Amino acid sequence: MKKNIKERVVLYNVNEEEKNLIKNIFLELNIDVNLIKAEDEEDVISSNLVSFIKLPNNEEKRKELEDIYISALRGWKLFYIIDDNFYKNIEEIKKQIKEYHDDYMRKNKKDSLNNVKDGIIGFAIGDALGVPAEFKTREELKKFPITDMIGYGTYGVPLGTWSDDTSMTLATMDSIIEKRKIDTDDIANKFLQWFRNSKYTATEQVFDIGRTTLQSLAKYEINMDEAKKCGQTGEMDNGNGSLMRMLPIAYYSYFKKFSDYPEKDYYESIYNYIKDISSITHANEISILGCYIFVMFAIEIIQGKLKDLSYEYIKNLDYSFFSREAIKKYDKILKGNIKEELVENIRTTGYIVDTLEAVFWLFLNSKDYDETLLKAVNLGGDTDTIAAITGGLLGMHYGIEKINENWKKKLIKCEYIEKLSDQFYNTLYN
Ligand SMILES: [Mg+2]
Repeated sequence: MKKNIKERVVLYNVNEEEKNLIKNIFLELNIDVNLIKAEDEEDVISSNLVSFIKLPNNEEKRKELEDIYISALRGWKLFYIIDDNFYKNIEEIKKQIKEYHDDYMRKNKKDSLNNVKDGIIGFAIGDALGVPAEFKTREELKKFPITDMIGYGTYGVPLGTWSDDTSMTLATMDSIIEKRKIDTDDIANKFLQWFRNSKYTATEQVFDIGRTTLQSLAKYEINMDEAKKCGQTGEMDNGNGSLMRMLPIAYYSYFKKFSDYPEKDYYESIYNYIKDISSITHANEISILGCYIFVMFAIEIIQGKLKDLSYEYIKNLDYSFFSREAIKKYDKILKGNIKEELVENIRTTGYIVDTLEAVFWLFLNSKDYDETLLKAVNLGGDTDTIAAITGGLLGMHYGIEKINENWKKKLIKCEYIEKLSDQFYNTLYN
């Protein structure tokens, strides 16, 4: 049984009566609807969702909105101003919404093709941008900031080289393509092919691997025990090494959402396979929770949901799979407002909690793909992983066409990554 896709609708400045009227339009058309209240005009513009807006009475503000936004939005998405004309044309509007929704249902999966590429290429670019600056301090980078994609630096690798973050992401995708499902032993075998035989690398060499990952893969290689039982469990094994390979799992989960999947088991299933996949290397609960928060957030971004609303969404999720102590570690994200933190409080160590905080801070405050990635790198510390994970989200949100074209050109084996992304999409879609 296919689940109905809920139409997400943004409302701005409408009163209760108008809201009910809009709700009824969708009800009459038999379309499930999720009405989202926009806090400001920015929210209306930055989503590709159906929107209803009422212009304010204030003449100046009204003029400003008409000039800047309304002309820009026409033709780009379904967008209505609630005025006298709206009431006169309500039958025509219903017809448009019906057509739009049917079209959306038809194209929904197809549209995600570019999104897979956007996310994965965005991720690899972030990685390559961060590699030369890894371990540099914020102070050093303040004096000599990174302003473009450069070669050499920390590891002495050529321009456009990406590291373990992208390699392990590609290995995970390749496994899902081959097995058409999540098979943790096969994923671990592919990690070994990367580590031992330099498969899935930019330059046929492995130059960056985390301690916990190394120990866990060695354990798997020697014992050949189930991969999901080989991950390290200690308090000190909570680096960002499993978080950095979760992007394919967000896509996997997103596509599953539209398949035969009973709602009540949806969150539990995602939790279970995230736990298994993380536990190939990182089996501590803090790591698993970090991966879960990231995947649930990324699923929202994949769907084109607004950044702030996606953040609200993960704050309100049920985390009862996890202990109170583990949840507490993520208080700054789940209880506070990470977007408002001062830069001094954003740490860029390899600790998963720090990394996730930095990623949220960068992404939620972003206005532009390139500028945000450079900002990520210039925070110093674990630059490649933080820029890679942020780059994946930015790629999904802004689209590949907004990414600096030169960076994409400089990215080693870009065509290979694009090809694998297409195969990955086809596997999930079919
Ligand atoms: Mg790396």
